Amino acid sequence: MSAGEVSKRRYRAFSCFLKERFRTRVYRVTIDAGFTCPNVDGSVAVGGCVYCDNRSFSPNRRQPRTAVRAQVERGVAILSKRYHAEKFLAYFQAATNTYAPVEKLRRLYEEALDHPQLVGLIVGTRPDCVPEDVLDLLECHTRDRYVCLELGLQSMHDRSLDWMNRGHHLGAFLDAVERCSRRVRDRPRCSASRLTLTWCAIFSNVCRPPW
Ligand code: SF4
Repeated sequence: MSAGEVSKRRYRAFSCFLKERFRTRVYRVTIDAGFTCPNVDGSVAVGGCVYCDNRSFSPNRRQPRTAVRAQVERGVAILSKRYHAEKFLAYFQAATNTYAPVEKLRRLYEEALDHPQLVGLIVGTRPDCVPEDVLDLLECHTRDRYVCLELGLQSMHDRSLDWMNRGHHLGAFLDAVERCSRRVRDRPRCSASRLTLTWCAIFSNVCRPPW
């Protein structure tokens, strides 16, 4: 991206950060590893966030879901053909991608990272679903890969979070960010909608309730 485009955007795009870091454009391969969410299964709440399509958690809607490695291979093949892409990040996007015992998470993440063109992981999750053993696992992968943790927030206002049935408040997000930040080795890199703390990225889109 040219300097002109950067100044027009007034923020540093995540894609630019990746391009600088890997010296080529890096593409995301979206993975559905079959997770559910504590805000859906009753552990935290039921029904999920108001904007979340909970039908997507139904087994019927998720079929046919293939193994993580097969999803990676398919995504890499499609993006390579379409964009001549060479490097990829496995994007664990559907549902809460840290909501499982750590050994299961290890197996799923490693299954994706086993592909030679995968340079790292993006893991989307909730701020109340990142216990220390999960952070240990993610930190482990930062030794030789890029790791990005997406912590959904949606609003900094607890009243808005209650309205949208998020099942957590701002305090949970701040706690998660604080615990992640202690593990970050490099200086944070920021953009308008996402803070990238080398291996910790945080979405913070403000959503207003209808009052
Ligand atoms: S936390 Fe995420 S996955 Fe869970 S219900 Fe809300 S939007 Fe859906």
